Amino acid sequence: MTPVLYTVPSNRALSRALCHSRATPTQHLTMADLTYPYDKHPEPGETLEIAEGVRWLTMPMGGSLNHINLYLLEDSDGWWVVDTGLSIAQTADLWHQVFDKELGGKPVKAVVCTHFHPDHIGQSSMITDHFRCPLYMTRSEYYQARAFSGGPGSQSSWIGEEFYVRAGMPRSYLQEMAKMWEQRSSHGMAMPDLPSGYHRLHKGDTLTIGAHDWRVAVGSGHSPEHACLYCAALGIMISGDQILPVITSNVSVHPAEPEANPLKDWMESHDRFLATPDSTLILPAHNLPFYGVRARLRELISHHEDRMLAIEEHCVEPALAKELLPVLFARELDSGQMMMALGEAIAHLHLLMLRNRIERQLHEDGHYRFLSIDPDLARRAHPDSHDAPSDGPIMV
Ligand SMILES: [Zn+2]
Repeated sequence: MTPVLYTVPSNRALSRALCHSRATPTQHLTMADLTYPYDKHPEPGETLEIAEGVRWLTMPMGGSLNHINLYLLEDSDGWWVVDTGLSIAQTADLWHQVFDKELGGKPVKAVVCTHFHPDHIGQSSMITDHFRCPLYMTRSEYYQARAFSGGPGSQSSWIGEEFYVRAGMPRSYLQEMAKMWEQRSSHGMAMPDLPSGYHRLHKGDTLTIGAHDWRVAVGSGHSPEHACLYCAALGIMISGDQILPVITSNVSVHPAEPEANPLKDWMESHDRFLATPDSTLILPAHNLPFYGVRARLRELISHHEDRMLAIEEHCVEPALAKELLPVLFARELDSGQMMMALGEAIAHLHLLMLRNRIERQLHEDGHYRFLSIDPDLARRAHPDSHDAPSDGPIMV
């Protein structure tokens, strides 16, 4: 079908109108004018043709984000599935509807998961078992998923306790987190079992599917080795969570790698993705397909730069990571959001440390305190004209 073009004036309006998202998580951004060729998502269990051999479907998600977008690519002898939805019965049932009604009698021949998060890999075992077909992932994503799907995580160990105490949290926070993880698991956000083997995707690989070549483009920061698929002939990129038009992907430091610098990877990935032609239709995992990839990437880069400067301005007096949350987020955070928010604050601090703009000291009370050290800060600072704090971090 030929899509009708709707030019939407701002992400904020779009978020309210179409995505049912809680308030407007990106209202603080200087909004790029993106163009959305579709004004709504396909109905559950149905697919919508985006281009020849490319179909779009959605699956349910809990919480403020009510959907994930998945895609089907048609080959001569079957379909490639890109991302799979949460590991909940409702999603499995909808997949069976799709298998029965939407695949024209052809089987699924491969499953690609862009990255290891549960809303992307949740049904990978079900689909690959049902069709006895391979799972394709990058190596880091596959093994990260395997690692997180077994046994207690660092969230409930002394490593987790040390991480959160250093960020300024009380020891009792760990118990709150344990409760939160239980709740998440009952909503399908637990790590599901993965197929016991996989086919490795490398950056730069080409998957020939039907008449089209799809190149694997890899980003990092939201997850370690996130795969996007780009088809130059169709002018389409399936971007997963690497490039989203409305919400900002979570970029967090977690206890499992307390000295990680994911925001550095994220910013470098954005720089690389800026080479994507502006005429590309981006098919994201959340929100709606859109045009305007470079404007969106620039917007996200300046968003994180603005957040970092606001943090530097706050840290002219030594501050705990916890104390930076009001700088970044406007509202009360529940324990799950707190975990993501702290992770994001620490991600910004780590990049500032690498840039020699922030110094970190471990104090006797077990907390890290962060202090701005750039002599040039007074010249760069503009405390009265920062973006307003975000509504809250989104768990995707
Ligand atoms: Zn994700």
